[in-house]
Amino acid sequence: MHELSVIAGLMETVEALAKEHRAKEVTVIRIRVGALSGVVAELLDSAFDMVKKGTIAERAALEIEKVPFKIRCKSCGAESERDDFQFACAGCASTELELVQGTELILERIEMDSGEPEE
Ligand SMILES: [Zn+2]
Repeated sequence: MHELSVIAGLMETVEALAKEHRAKEVTVIRIRVGALSGVVAELLDSAFDMVKKGTIAERAALEIEKVPFKIRCKSCGAESERDDFQFACAGCASTELELVQGTELILERIEMDSGEPEE
């Protein structure tokens, strides 16, 4: 399962960040997943459940933001955002396209609990 190695890599980054900030616990992990990133959001969820056990993020919520892919038409220059798999310009139906967004898999933010009393 590809998602498992994605999550394992993500968890390394999260643990490094938590350590850097001396966090006691990670509460939220938010990632952006492009429609063409090659991973399935639902599988990321179950992979996360497996990997998080015993880590600083054991009780963290994984928030997945799905990003539709965006294409730019080479004929008319129009940009279209698509979440179906129609690889054609929304303006002129040209198939001469360039991919602008949609393959990313980014750790957007994490929320941590420092364990220190709030002011
Ligand atoms: Zn076009």
